[in-house]
Amino acid sequence: MFKIKYCLASMLFLVGALAIAQEESEEKREPGHYNQSKFKQLYEEFSTPNTYRSASGAPGPDYYQQRADYKMNIVLDDKNAKINGVETITYYNNSPDDLEFLWVQLDQNVRAKDSKSPLRDGNGVNFAYTASNFASTYIQEPFDGGFNIEYVKDANGKPLSFTINQTMMRLNIPKPLKSGEQISFSIKWWYNIPDHTVNRARSGYEYFAKDGNRAYVIAQFFPRMAVYSDVEGWQNHQFWGSGEFALPFGNYDVSITVPADHILDATGVLQNRDDVFSKEMMKRYKQAKKSYDKPVLIVTQEEAEAAEKGFSDKTKTWKFKATNVRDYGFATSRKFIWDMQAVKIGGKDVMAVSMYPKEGNPLWEEQSTKAVVQTLKTYSKHTFDYPYHKAISVHAKNQGMEYPMICWNYGRPNEDGTYSDRTKYGMISVIIHEVGHNFFPMIVNSDERQWGWMDEGLDTFMQYLAEQEFGKNYPEVIAPNTKYPSRRGEAAKIVPYMAGDQSYISPIMSNPENVYQLGPNAYGKPATALNILRETVMGEELFDHAFKTYAQRWKFKHPTPEDFFRTMEDASAVDLDWYWRGWFYTTDYVDIGVKGVKKYYVSSKPTKQMEKYMADRNLTESDLPPLVYLAEEDSEDYYPDLKGKFPSATSQNLKEFMMDKLTEAERGQIKEPKYFYEITFDKPGGIPMPLIVEYTYADGSKENITYPAEIWRKNDAEVRRVLASQKELVGIVVDPKLETADIDTTNNSWPIKEEKSDFDKFKENIKGK
Ligand SMILES: [Zn+2]
Repeated sequence: MFKIKYCLASMLFLVGALAIAQEESEEKREPGHYNQSKFKQLYEEFSTPNTYRSASGAPGPDYYQQRADYKMNIVLDDKNAKINGVETITYYNNSPDDLEFLWVQLDQNVRAKDSKSPLRDGNGVNFAYTASNFASTYIQEPFDGGFNIEYVKDANGKPLSFTINQTMMRLNIPKPLKSGEQISFSIKWWYNIPDHTVNRARSGYEYFAKDGNRAYVIAQFFPRMAVYSDVEGWQNHQFWGSGEFALPFGNYDVSITVPADHILDATGVLQNRDDVFSKEMMKRYKQAKKSYDKPVLIVTQEEAEAAEKGFSDKTKTWKFKATNVRDYGFATSRKFIWDMQAVKIGGKDVMAVSMYPKEGNPLWEEQSTKAVVQTLKTYSKHTFDYPYHKAISVHAKNQGMEYPMICWNYGRPNEDGTYSDRTKYGMISVIIHEVGHNFFPMIVNSDERQWGWMDEGLDTFMQYLAEQEFGKNYPEVIAPNTKYPSRRGEAAKIVPYMAGDQSYISPIMSNPENVYQLGPNAYGKPATALNILRETVMGEELFDHAFKTYAQRWKFKHPTPEDFFRTMEDASAVDLDWYWRGWFYTTDYVDIGVKGVKKYYVSSKPTKQMEKYMADRNLTESDLPPLVYLAEEDSEDYYPDLKGKFPSATSQNLKEFMMDKLTEAERGQIKEPKYFYEITFDKPGGIPMPLIVEYTYADGSKENITYPAEIWRKNDAEVRRVLASQKELVGIVVDPKLETADIDTTNNSWPIKEEKSDFDKFKENIKGK
C-alpha cells in the first residue's frame, strides 16, 4: 500500500535488531500540510514580546502597573437594606502614557432598572424556573439595584464632570493625568442591596424569615478603578454578568458602620479590635491565635442565636486597613457564628477563619476551617507563601465568590441538620476553590473579564491538588479507603464535554461572555489540561517548577495568557506550543487508537519490494552493502520455516556482521528478537498527545512504552511503530490508565475488544430502570 523509499545512507545496522529508516507514507499529504501542522509554533496567535512583557514570559524591564488607593466610609442601613458610601480614590499613573480621562467601574449598574444585561439573552423560554426567578422575571417590577452617584468631586471639593455608560463611568478630568502623576477624587454613592438568592447575584443579602434577620455578603459595592495596561489600554469592557473583574492593586483604609449587634469580617487588618470585640471575644481570639490543630469559637452558636433576637438601634464602626489588595469585600450579620485557628505558612502565622449562620451547622463548624487550612497549605506549596494575615470562609446560600482574604461559599444542611455527601463535598470543594482564588486572581492578578480561564482554570487545577491532599490529611471526612471525590481534574471527567456537540463548545481562549457551558470551558477543561500536562506530558517535577515560576513571576502583577504559556516553556525546556494549540486554541478532542498489527520475520532473501527497487535502478545485490530484510507474514515474501528463528539464524549477513564486529563478550550479551511487529496507531482526534501503549506478551508479562506527542509531528493521522521482541505479542492497549481524555476507547485495543460505548451503557441503564 505504501511507498517505501530506501535511503542507503541512512540504513542502520544495530546490534540485535535491524532497522531500516523508512520515510512515512506521503499519500495522505495535502499541499500546505505543514501550515496546518499541530506542531507549528504559535507566532501568529501570540502577541509579540516587547519591553513590557519578555519573550521568556516574565515581566519586561519596562513593565508597569497602575495603582489605586481607597479611603472609604461605608454605612449599612439594615432596616432598609441600603448601603451608603463616601470614598476617596488616589490614582497613580505609572504608565508611560498621559491619560485624558479615567474609567471607573460601576458594577452594581448591572442590577439597575434600565440595565441592558437582561435584554441580551436570546435563548427563549426556560422549561423550569425557581419560584423567585419566575417572580422576578415575569411578575415583579425590575429591582432597582443600580448605583446612585450623589457626587464626584476633585481634591479641592469642586465637582468633577463624569459620563456613565452602563457599568462604566468616565471621569472627564480637566487636564490629562501625565505619566508619573497622581490624582485624588471623591465619590458619594448609595444603592439598594439585592437579595442575592434571586437571579444569582454575586453580592447582597439572604433574608431569614424565621428570625427576621439578614446576612450580608457585600462586594463590587463601591465604584472601582478600571485597569489601564500595556495590553488593553483601559480595560473598560462592560460588566454583563459573566465576565468577572479586572482591578488594579492598592491600599485600602475602610470604616464600615453596621448595627451594634452585628458580627463583621472583611478584607484587611482590623484596626479597632478593642472597640468591636467583647472581653470574652478578645480572650478567645488570643486562644485562637495559638491554636494550630483546631478552630476556637470567637462567637458561639448560642451567642449568635441570642443576638438574632436583638435588632439593636445602635451602631458600631469596624475599621480595617489592607495593603496591596485588588479589591474589597465584607460580610456582616447578627446571625454569624465565628471560628478561627492559626496555620503556619512559611514561618508566619495566618488565621484560617469561618463565619456562618446556625443554618450552616453542623457542617460548617466541622469542615469549613479545615478546608481553609488545607487550601492555604497546598496552594502555598505550589505557588508562594500566602502573604496575607487571614483567609475567611463565609457561608452564604448558593454563593461561591472570592475577594481578597474573604469569600462566600454554599453548602447548607437540611433543616434538621442532616446532610448528604453531595452537600458535604460540594461545600468543602467550593471553600477550597474560593479561598484558592486568593492566589489566582487576587494575587496573580489576571484579567478575569477577558480571560475567565486564567483564574478559574488555574484555580480549579490547584483545587484538585488541594482536594486530594485534604482526602489524605482528613481520612475521617471521606469514605473509607477512597480518594477525595473531585468533580473536576481527572482526565476522564472532561470527556463528555469534549466529545459533545461542537456547536456548543468554544476554545478555552474565549471571552467568558461569549461561550456556552462556561463551567467546562473556563473551569473543567483548563484544569484537566493542566492536570494532564503535569501528570502525563511534562511530569510533576518539570511542571511544578514551571508553574511555581509563573506564580512567583506574576504575583502582585497582571499576567496575560502568553505570559503563562511562555513561562511554562521557559522554565521547563518542553516545547508546548502543540499542547496550547490543541487544548487552549481549538475545540478539538483526543482520540487515539490502534488500527492494525502486522508480523514480520527476518530474511536473507530480498523482498519483492526490494527486488522492484533494485530493478527500477538497474542494481544487483552486489552493488549494495550486505542487507537484512524484514518480510511480512503471509505475504509473497514469507517463508514459514523462518518463523520463530533468531535473525542471525536466518540472515547470513547479520550473523557475519555480529561475528566480525562484536567481541565474544558482546555476542554473549545479545538477546535476539524473534518477532517483529509493525503496529499502526491512528488518531481520529485533532489533539496530538503522547502515545501511551501497554503491550502484553504471550507469557502474560506487560511492557509500557510512552512515545512522545512529537510522534505525530509529520503525520497527524497515522503512525507506525516497529516492536522487536523475543516474546509473542498478544495484546495492545492505548492509554490503559485513561490519562489523556481519549473520547472513544472502543478503538484503543488490539485485538479489538467488544466494548460497550457509554451510549449503549446509558441505554441499558434506562431500560433497567
Ligand atoms: Zn472560581
